[in-house]
Amino acid sequence: MILEMKHIYKNYQQGKMDVPVLKDVNFSMEEGEYVAIMGPSGSGKTTLMNLIGCLDKPTSGSFLLDGMDVSKCSENEMSDMRLHKLGFVFQSFHLLAKQSAIENVMMPLNYAGVPKKKRREIAFAALERVGLAERVDFLPNQLSGGQMQRVAIARAIVNSPKLLLADEPTGALDSKSGQQVMELFQKLNEEGVTVLMITHDSEIAEHAKRIVLIRDGVLREKEVPANE
Ligand code: ADP
Ligand code: MG
Repeated sequence: MILEMKHIYKNYQQGKMDVPVLKDVNFSMEEGEYVAIMGPSGSGKTTLMNLIGCLDKPTSGSFLLDGMDVSKCSENEMSDMRLHKLGFVFQSFHLLAKQSAIENVMMPLNYAGVPKKKRREIAFAALERVGLAERVDFLPNQLSGGQMQRVAIARAIVNSPKLLLADEPTGALDSKSGQQVMELFQKLNEEGVTVLMITHDSEIAEHAKRIVLIRDGVLREKEVPANE
């Protein structure tokens, strides 16, 4: 099991009020899975993603990520988990505007202390994997939206994370670029990358092998229609 959440609750403090956002979430993933969490705006998707991404802690419940109990981790341990075990893809790419494609992809390797000579090599291989070997020296504003998202995906996989997390990865893309990003996720999953994608879009969610629904902070598996 790469991740295991049991009876997770998350409340936000609003003045003196405690606002419950996630309610008794039970969710697990095996290595190699490709899962989509789908729900409408405001249902708690990003809140859940922030917990899984070790950016925030649950109010209560237990959460194991690759065998580590995140609820007991220090800030430093959480940042180590983000660096070594997780890859992040966001709706708006989050690329550094003044850095070329390959420099953006090299960034996590700098933090991880990979020797300088090796960084370029590893980053180039990641850009090749997403089909951008010809664009390594382009700046983000010289790339299309779909290409920028592929650079962001190369950056997310460059450290060989245990889990790739994507929050509305196609939300800022036209449908053709969105389709290409979905094809890339499928290819990466076939190559062994474990993928968790969050979306409000049922057509996008259908690309995953398993769909989990979230509504008003409550999670449930989508029924697989019986074949008859
Ligand atoms: P989604 O990503 O599905 O649109 P969010 O997880 O962003 O949903 O938000 C879920 C609910 O939690 C919303 O009602 C939102 O207002 C509330 N919420 C999110 N972040 C905070 C916060 N930092 N403080 C208080 N309430 C929050
Ligand atoms: Mg959100």
